[in-house]
Amino acid sequence: MSEAAVIDGKAFSARLREKVASEVSRIKSESSVTPGLAVVLVGDDPASRVYVGSKAKQTVEAGMESFEHRYNDDIDEATLLDLIDQLNNDKTVNGILVQLPLPDQIDEQKVLSAIDPDKDVDGFHTTNVGRLWTGGESLVPCTPFGCSLMLKDYLGNLSGKNAIIIGRSNIVGKPMAALLLAESCTVTIAHSRTDDLPGKCREADIVVAAVGRPEMVKGDWIKPGATVIDVGINRVDAPEKGLKDDGSPKTKLVGDVDYAGAAAVAGAITPVPGGVGPMTIACLLRNTVVACCRQNGLPDPDL
Ligand code: NDP
Repeated sequence: MSEAAVIDGKAFSARLREKVASEVSRIKSESSVTPGLAVVLVGDDPASRVYVGSKAKQTVEAGMESFEHRYNDDIDEATLLDLIDQLNNDKTVNGILVQLPLPDQIDEQKVLSAIDPDKDVDGFHTTNVGRLWTGGESLVPCTPFGCSLMLKDYLGNLSGKNAIIIGRSNIVGKPMAALLLAESCTVTIAHSRTDDLPGKCREADIVVAAVGRPEMVKGDWIKPGATVIDVGINRVDAPEKGLKDDGSPKTKLVGDVDYAGAAAVAGAITPVPGGVGPMTIACLLRNTVVACCRQNGLPDPDL
């Protein structure tokens, strides 16, 4: 069997971002509206800072307005809820994203629930969760939405395919299941208590791994020709790359799938890095444009 095709998320996300930028420029020329995304960052976690920085950069590159609100991690809940209220009522803000995690003194669910569901570009509000599961007009969480776009682009019609999703989190596993069910896949949601996970995987035409365990899914779990979407992002030691200045081993990113083993069996696979990861911000930009159109009575863009 030949090596699996690589589903190139970097190239796919670049094409999506170009389409977003051209929709933004069309909206700006046909109306007086410029889509705007507000990102709220609490604390100075380095990874969150980098992530928020690249969201802001890509928002501006797509021709949209970017509003950043940064707070120290001693902020109280009432101040944060006041900010959300202001953003909900600000017509220049079409999308609101609160970078997680939030510090312990703040009830994360309370803050997420305070966001106007029509501006909830992360798709975490229970109103959007309900709309997604009942087939309504929702904003869909970015990472699973990106996975479904790549699957539909690569496989075309997904109807009737057996899909297994490993992981049942609210941000990846569950919305992924809703999206694949909506495409008429037969969906299995696996988790840490699932019996005979390798056997269940071997029945699947589509495997989505969202576990957070480095290289857990092995090549002999994969049905020959299956399509494998690896959501996992895990940093592991890479002694083969040498040592850092402090004497500790250098590190690398790996997915939840043993890439070499799975690529020898699968029909197609997403790499880590360069697969699902780059799609997440592109889908955030897409959701912001969709939210903007809906708030301004414009037709949904073709994205
Ligand atoms: P969570 O920790 O919230 O969920 C992990 C899920 O995996 C749980 O449902 C858990 O089961 C299940 N699980 C854990 N161990 C096993 C096991 N041994 N066998 C079967 N299932 C298991 O993680 P997230 O959903 O937030 O993230 C998953 C991965 O995706 C992480 O690596 C994360 O970094 C990555 N990620 C990547 C993004 C991107 O942009 N590409 C965005 C978001 C996440 P149980 O419920 O029973 O505990």
